[in-house]
Amino acid sequence: MTTPLDRSATWPYDASGEPGPYSYVRAEHPNAVSVEHVLGALEGGRALLYPAGMAAVTGVVLTLLPPGGTIALAAGAYYGHKQLFDHLKPWGTNTVEYDQTGPPPEGADLILLEAPSNPLLTMPDFEAAAAHPAHVVCDATLASPLRLRPLEHGCDVSLHSATKVLAGHDDLLAGVATVCDDALFDRLHLTRRLTGLVASADTAWLLERGLKTLAVRLDRMEGTARALADRLESHPAVMTLRYPGFGFLISFDVADGEAARRVEVATEVIENATSLGGTRTKLESRHRWEGGRCPEGLLRLSVGLEPVDALWADLERALARA
Ligand code: PLP
Repeated sequence: MTTPLDRSATWPYDASGEPGPYSYVRAEHPNAVSVEHVLGALEGGRALLYPAGMAAVTGVVLTLLPPGGTIALAAGAYYGHKQLFDHLKPWGTNTVEYDQTGPPPEGADLILLEAPSNPLLTMPDFEAAAAHPAHVVCDATLASPLRLRPLEHGCDVSLHSATKVLAGHDDLLAGVATVCDDALFDRLHLTRRLTGLVASADTAWLLERGLKTLAVRLDRMEGTARALADRLESHPAVMTLRYPGFGFLISFDVADGEAARRVEVATEVIENATSLGGTRTKLESRHRWEGGRCPEGLLRLSVGLEPVDALWADLERALARA
């Protein structure tokens, strides 16, 4: 009923002295291949597993960005991507942030969209991005392949932090990149093998287990998120409500940074913690991480599996402190 867990780091050659399908774990291992089949089927392409979402984007950038090249990055998207690209600046990586609801800037060598962006929840203009000559990569962590398949919208690479809703239980770190083009798959695979950006068998096994309940978890989380978004919208302490109409992530603004801090520490059912897409509902002020990239009063709510009424009662109680 489950894929056997194989923690081998090396496998014997066959009787004629030739490597079989598996020889050394950095090249390929059975648990990664198994979960990659599931992920590829979900995305409509060929998937590669990585040990983190950040490892996936690193593998993609090392493969696709020419030296001295410019990445056009969706403004307001996951702040870790901007931090990584800034960190790589000494190697000649330039970054321009742009409004992904319009066309990417001319001259960009690689485009990184995010659908929807975290935490400002904008959606990209896929058509405008696909019309650009550069490769288009889309991080669809917040949507999941059950709600959005970037490869069907003209993107060359679909990216996910599998740490989030794909795994779904806040107990592993993983990433995935999926492509349709075989030549691009081979190039990404080579970069992964040479750099050792390889997830462990245990990670792959746990992710495969998590994926078995993705659809039911997402339906439940999304239903609750919709109900909470409706109620938050008319709450007097909520200045701005962002919810793209699907998925499990909501962000909303209270008056200022101090109000946000009072609200986030006041919840009892909801965890005051970072990350998203897990079974437990989490709330946090994003200003502590993102600084000026987001409003000071912005709170990010990742809706989990708890009963909607318990979550709303908790939020109402906490918002009374705003
Ligand atoms: N992409 C998005 C949208 C994220 O929210 C995150 C992490 O929060 C990442 C990528 C990075 O993923 P990981 O933490 O698995 O490296």
